[in-house]
Amino acid sequence: MTYWKNKKVLVLGLGRSGVSAAEYLVKRGASVLLSESSQPNESRQADIQKLKELGVEVEVGGHSKTALDFAELAVVSPGIAPGSDVIRELEKRNVDIICDVELAARETKIPIIGITGTNGKSTTTALISHILATAGLRAPACGNFGVPVLDELEKMPDYLVAEISSYQLHYTNTLSPKVAVWTNLTPDHIEWHGNLQNYREAKQKLFAQQKANQYAILNEDDPIVKDFQPASEIFSFAVESPDHAIQCAFMQHGFLSYRIDGRTQILCHQDDLKIIGKHNLENALAAVSVAAVLNIEFEKIVEGLKSFPGLEHRLEYIDTVNGVKYYNDSKATNPNSTIKALEAFGDEKVVLIAGGKDKHTPLDELVYCIKKHASDVVLIGEAKDRFQQALKASGFNSIHIGQSMEDAVTTAAQIGKGPVVLSPACASFDMFKDFEDRGRVFKHLVRTQLEKLAASR
Ligand code: ADP
Repeated sequence: MTYWKNKKVLVLGLGRSGVSAAEYLVKRGASVLLSESSQPNESRQADIQKLKELGVEVEVGGHSKTALDFAELAVVSPGIAPGSDVIRELEKRNVDIICDVELAARETKIPIIGITGTNGKSTTTALISHILATAGLRAPACGNFGVPVLDELEKMPDYLVAEISSYQLHYTNTLSPKVAVWTNLTPDHIEWHGNLQNYREAKQKLFAQQKANQYAILNEDDPIVKDFQPASEIFSFAVESPDHAIQCAFMQHGFLSYRIDGRTQILCHQDDLKIIGKHNLENALAAVSVAAVLNIEFEKIVEGLKSFPGLEHRLEYIDTVNGVKYYNDSKATNPNSTIKALEAFGDEKVVLIAGGKDKHTPLDELVYCIKKHASDVVLIGEAKDRFQQALKASGFNSIHIGQSMEDAVTTAAQIGKGPVVLSPACASFDMFKDFEDRGRVFKHLVRTQLEKLAASR
């Protein structure tokens, strides 16, 4: 715990983490200046007002020299890239630059379970929290998912289950989680990190301060993660790789299992889970690994695995209309995520609703996967022409165009096959506020169809 009285802290960015850090610090006597580069819109005024009432000085529309000179410590929003002018200026002044998770780690002795990786972070975080809650522990999901970590400290939970992004990890230097999970690594966020090497090194910072009595939960199936050698004790998990490790979570004839202290426990069958797809088995085994090293009773792990409903907008089952199942996978904002969704249905051919704001990512692998797993594709949004061209060029012609989401849902229903899956492989901003808005509109349309059907009977 730091003695904050009169310490001068600059908080950069009026996002969730910035507001949380400013509030935490000012309540403990620090002198806090929050600086936001943009002009915040109407929706942010309540936060600004609240902070001012607490005694935080707030500047908007740019970072002033006064603000930079003021800082003894800077708590920065994860959105601010390392090479940006403001970070360079702070470095010139030798200011300690950290993120809110690092601040939380310095402020508490509550054991942290940290989760990072390119994909699967939120699902794994939520599932770990759910299993621990099933076992009677207070272990809120927080960080990048849920509420900021600092907001949980006063409640004194048993564990902090924190999703931690590579951006946040970049701004850590003492964080030392009791258990650290690395789900996988594929190229992403290169613009922010500069190159893949920096991105990987940021992920590895989750383990950098760990001691031998802490745990690293590593994905044995991932070519980069599996070769990582941290100082902490390794517990590996793998859906595909053989179960050769002394302590690991693995699949055995469709059953989720783990081995620890020389004994093997078989938990439950993959069909007992409500979340589907191989990628979710990876997430489930990562969560099992955490539960195993924390000595959670195996009956409680099984109960937690079976009752976890999954997260909204991630292959979320909505309902069955006219015998066809509908799924909302609006979080799939890139081709890689849509590929995972299609693969989750195995041999069952899906009617895919895709398209949106085009990220101009290569489509070859996605097209290959669509040909294998989809009977029909309904295309929407800005990307529809490029997607259509790529599909046609590969010889796939069961293509339909939806002028709106409503049109797409009606078209998919008329096709009369399924499951119908919204997994756009694109961002949402051409037609919707964000991916959550897109998913909710889709779910509403599906349920409206269901109501119409019921009324017509
Ligand atoms: P994150 O928080 O890392 O974005 P989520 O759990 O929110 O991850 O999942 C987002 C999307 O990423 C899912 O809709 C799915 O398509 C894909 N995904 C989830 N888990 C994995 C995994 N373990 N490996 C690869 N892709 C995954």
